[in-house]
Amino acid sequence: MKDYEIVIGLEIHAEVNTNSKVFCSCKNEFGSAPNTNCCPVCVGLPGALPVLNKKAVEYTIKAGLALGCEINDIAVFERKNYFYPDLSKAYQISQLVKPLCLGGGIELDNGKFARLNRIHLEEDAGKLTHKNQTIGTLVDYNRGGIPLMEIVTEPDISSADEAVEFLTKLRRTLIYSGVANCRMEQGGMRCDVNLSVKEKGSNVLGTRTEMKNLNSFKMVRRAIEYEAKRQIEELESGGKIVQQTRKWDDNKGKSFPMRSKENSNDYRYFPDPDLLTIEIDREDVEEIRKTIPLLAEGRKKIYVEQYGLPEYDAKILTNDKFISDYFENCLKIAHMPKQISNWIMTDVLKLLKDYPTEDLTNIISEKNLMEIISLVEKREITRPNSKALFEIVSTATISRNADKFENEDLTKDESTEEINAKKLAEQNGMLNSFSHEELVTAVENALANFPNARKDYNETPDKVLRFYIGKVMAFSKGLANPQEAEKLLKAELEK
Ligand SMILES: [Zn+2]
Repeated sequence: MKDYEIVIGLEIHAEVNTNSKVFCSCKNEFGSAPNTNCCPVCVGLPGALPVLNKKAVEYTIKAGLALGCEINDIAVFERKNYFYPDLSKAYQISQLVKPLCLGGGIELDNGKFARLNRIHLEEDAGKLTHKNQTIGTLVDYNRGGIPLMEIVTEPDISSADEAVEFLTKLRRTLIYSGVANCRMEQGGMRCDVNLSVKEKGSNVLGTRTEMKNLNSFKMVRRAIEYEAKRQIEELESGGKIVQQTRKWDDNKGKSFPMRSKENSNDYRYFPDPDLLTIEIDREDVEEIRKTIPLLAEGRKKIYVEQYGLPEYDAKILTNDKFISDYFENCLKIAHMPKQISNWIMTDVLKLLKDYPTEDLTNIISEKNLMEIISLVEKREITRPNSKALFEIVSTATISRNADKFENEDLTKDESTEEINAKKLAEQNGMLNSFSHEELVTAVENALANFPNARKDYNETPDKVLRFYIGKVMAFSKGLANPQEAEKLLKAELEK
């Protein structure tokens, strides 16, 4: 068998995070009752005129700047003509010749720079749901007219691993920039994969196929692995690759031919006469650039260099913005980065696996986590008890927020009493009844009241230590923690 290289280009659609749609004032909202966020503009009634949402343009430019693109001086909306029931006006408003952003790219861990070709702004289509034969297909136009960024790469990606890494980094940048939520399970980010294979070292690209609307990274990986293998086997057996669009069936783990692939001239693009050319002012671009917040890499750097966290921890904490935000909210309560990071990395993330949510306060509030950390720091609770307290507080929080988890059958706790970590620790008898301050006093008293005993410390340290521990325990009526007492005594005696 010959050696083959895989050549992959991606087209990613991400819904822009605006309040309203791109050419009308209907709500941009997921999960509304079907066909309730619609008006004559977004369902394309004759005579209805589009009005451009400025925010959608700004956000697309912001995404472009965050990804290192050049911003064009002008951008033109064009009509992409085709007929399909999810597109009632029989054309989609998109950009072809003059998109908003050009170039840019993302650096992969192996050092490769995967280039972007462009980012343009267009409108989303409605959503079709195929029911059984009696009901037929249902259409919901709520999604029609939602602003959609289309991010097109150059064919720089050469494996499923690289594709998934690229998508992960792209998604993270869009979320950190605040321009898109990229909720893949809601269709907020979808990916088309263009794939061809060629003989290793050859400059001639093979014929490519396209797989559309892959909406999870797992699907992207499986579809790429399947399609590369299929094409190589086809060529090896003397066959030819046909340029076509293929449908990926995730259940069957196979792709099937859908239609022969269209070229852009099949769509008869032409400038939309109802929309003006967008002229982009350089000063506006610079203003938008200033609104780009610190992205994952920038936050990671601070966590390592300023907070002293290990590289690995900083990476995990910044992988998802909602985790990084939670960490920073905790820091605002008390600046204990290492302790907070330890609790998040172990206990909080372990629970997140069982209770997926984008809001960690559904698992435990920042205030309660910090209360537990503070009890440990002040030695008002033992370590095992602090873990047990975390369990009690998080269980109460999770059952209070039962309806906020995607896949859980939990009984909701309807009580209105505030969940308070310290109170729960008291109620469960978890607090050390002898405080750290009291212990320090007890140690000082024992040493002051029996000054002669310490003289033998150099000869018989264990015996002397035991003597003083006994005094401290007697003084505290047995409530002091003997290990803590020993630590403090040792430190004093060795002075
Ligand atoms: Zn509308």
